[in-house]
Amino acid sequence: MKLAPHLHRIGNDIVAVYLVDTDEGVTIIDAGLAGHWRELLAELASMGRTLADVKGVILTHGDGDHLGFAERIRRDHRVPVFVHPADAARAKGGPKPANAKQRMRLGATLGFFGYTLRKGGARTTYLTSTVDARDGETLALPGSPRIIALPGHSEGSIAIHVPIADAVFVGDGLTTRHVLTGSSGPQPAPFTDEPAQALASLRALLPTGATWVLPGHGAPWNRGVEAAVAAVEKAARSTNAA
Ligand SMILES: [Zn+2]
Repeated sequence: MKLAPHLHRIGNDIVAVYLVDTDEGVTIIDAGLAGHWRELLAELASMGRTLADVKGVILTHGDGDHLGFAERIRRDHRVPVFVHPADAARAKGGPKPANAKQRMRLGATLGFFGYTLRKGGARTTYLTSTVDARDGETLALPGSPRIIALPGHSEGSIAIHVPIADAVFVGDGLTTRHVLTGSSGPQPAPFTDEPAQALASLRALLPTGATWVLPGHGAPWNRGVEAAVAAVEKAARSTNAA
């Protein structure tokens, strides 16, 4: 669906993939689950585009629920897949740190894992080749996406700022819908390696001044990056106080 000029989303509030559409072509942010492939083709068609218009995929980090069709589009359509070097091994199936115990509610948790299974998330296809995306770099892709390091959820987590779309894509740097509890609103994301670091990293988003804050999980947020970060910090304080 089209969110705004230059900005499309496929998937849903459980797992989302974003497309940036400019005169130069299409940049994809995250690759969701394998089963999002057909939605990708349908969305491109609705935009008057084809896979040949896709110039690159940028992964916000290397977790399986963001890798979906990345290897497929890389291998079969020669689309480069960018990831921060600190998460490249994870995107290729390397080890990831064990997380602390998560708070969860059964219904929301089953919803997340059920959707993941239906979309082929049980069989992650890891990448065999990636291109480095480093902090501060502006990639030569549609929308001139700029990389902002956002370590915490994983060491190589990044946000991507696309000025033409007035958007910053934050992956699992924050969420607007907790996949394990179902609670909505900007808040820290679950399965985070280093929660305190993830929270502190969000400050790096503020200079973008972006209207759209687009997480990998949860509803798109269009009330500005400042309000989103403030809400996450508030949610983290109340969780810690509880
Ligand atoms: Zn995720």
